[in-house]
Amino acid sequence: MGECMEMGRRVIVIGGGASGMMAAIQAARRGAQVTVTEQMDRVGKKLLSTGNGRCNFTNLNQRPEYYRCSRADFPWQVVERFPVGDTLAFFGELGILPKDRNGYIYPYSDQASSVLDVLRMELEHLGVALRTGCAVREIRKTANGPFSVRTGQGLLEADALILAAGSKAAPATGSDGSGYELARRLGHRILTPLPALVQLRCAETDYKQMAGVRTEAKVTLFERTAQPEAGRKAAGPDGGWKQLAEDTGELQLTEYGISGIPVFQVSRYASSALYAGKQVKAVVDFLPGQSREETAALIKTRRETMPEKSCEQWMIGLLNKKLSMALLKRAGLSAKTAVCDVPERGWNALLGQLRAFETRVTASNSFEQAQVCCGGVDTAEVDPATMESGIVPGLYLAGEILDVDGICGGYNLQWAWSSGAVAGRAAAAGTRIRTERQKAGR
Ligand SMILES: Cc1cc2nc3c(=O)[nH]c(=O)nc-3n(C[C@H](O)[C@H](O)[C@H](O)COP(=O)(O)OP(=O)(O)OC[C@H]3O[C@@H](n4cnc5c(N)ncnc54)[C@H](O)[C@@H]3O)c2cc1C
Repeated sequence: MGECMEMGRRVIVIGGGASGMMAAIQAARRGAQVTVTEQMDRVGKKLLSTGNGRCNFTNLNQRPEYYRCSRADFPWQVVERFPVGDTLAFFGELGILPKDRNGYIYPYSDQASSVLDVLRMELEHLGVALRTGCAVREIRKTANGPFSVRTGQGLLEADALILAAGSKAAPATGSDGSGYELARRLGHRILTPLPALVQLRCAETDYKQMAGVRTEAKVTLFERTAQPEAGRKAAGPDGGWKQLAEDTGELQLTEYGISGIPVFQVSRYASSALYAGKQVKAVVDFLPGQSREETAALIKTRRETMPEKSCEQWMIGLLNKKLSMALLKRAGLSAKTAVCDVPERGWNALLGQLRAFETRVTASNSFEQAQVCCGGVDTAEVDPATMESGIVPGLYLAGEILDVDGICGGYNLQWAWSSGAVAGRAAAAGTRIRTERQKAGR
């Protein structure tokens, strides 16, 4: 480490977001001379909008499958090297008292700005040079020479480079996708970035009527595997649909479709299937706590106890009124019809709507509304032990620029902290190792 400082090894971090700041701190703590280049007028803009301004910065409940990637085992190999305990210890030392909401961790202040403030203070304390309003336009590297980085503020040189420029999600915070282009020009493969943790747009016209409703529901997402014209036989026992994902939580109905946490959790699969040209549908269960038989029994009891009521009145107390009206309509029942006059098939249709409301997903919302992206730099080209590029020695990658996306709940920031820490430590150490090799003439 001493040698690093003597030699004044230079590390440039491109992007002053969550992963870039973590990488810079870890590299500087190991003696590297670190510069962060950030194209916005300040670092950490996205961090301020996280967790509705409260910053859900990690989660105590960690599992490998909460991190998604084309190379399924890659994210966890990185997270294990800087797990949730390290995140809590790191932020604890900087002054953040954690607030635990069922495992979802926030700063006790409930202010995302606290997380950003302590990171900025630590960067300053370590003497990290912050260059804001400094967009990186081009990166050059000769075989054994340093990196040459062309920025809006002139040329910079570095022995190691950490590319932490984020994705295309929420571009107003600075992540405009330019990092992908920098990586691509250095020889990396980019798996098409698509919006994830995002609302889904649906084909049916009755959403305007239901807009604003929030209700507990299970959302199951399917893609079509057989064309309808291929007939029942070709469709197989699954009816020609393959289940992609499911999640339960508070569903929100909007003017154009479905939103809320369970929709966010399944949205990356919808984006990918739609991008592949597949038809996508979501099936919504509005009574996820019951079996189908229990719902059938509930309907029967309510029919027997309230035969004189209209269908509209009969639904009161069961579900939100706006939603009830839409479900009755979809079941082919008139709101004013008396319960005792509804035929059996009407009740079956209503049961179907309550437990398996089908909606055709036509698109996701855009990158502007997405919290993260799925896709990004192919992790097959990155070493999970160091985050070093397998294509350009001395180049490290961290954060959302990679083809890794976490589920909602603090996992995307945990990914940013873990990958940033691994990259920062290795970038500082890697330069030292090379220096020693160079000294020994190897
Ligand atoms: C509204 C919202 C709420 C969220 N809430 C949560 C939450 O509560 N919990 C959670 O875990 N995750 C949350 N996320 C996701 C999380 O914020 C991101 O996954 C994380 O911030 C990604 O960190 P990053 O460092 O990879 O990228 P970013 O934070 O996007 O940082 C990248 C930085 O690089 C800069 N940059 C880009 N290109 C260049 C260039 N060419 N030159 C110089 N600088 C460049 C950008 O300006 C940006 O500052 C949320 C996201 C959004 C949008």
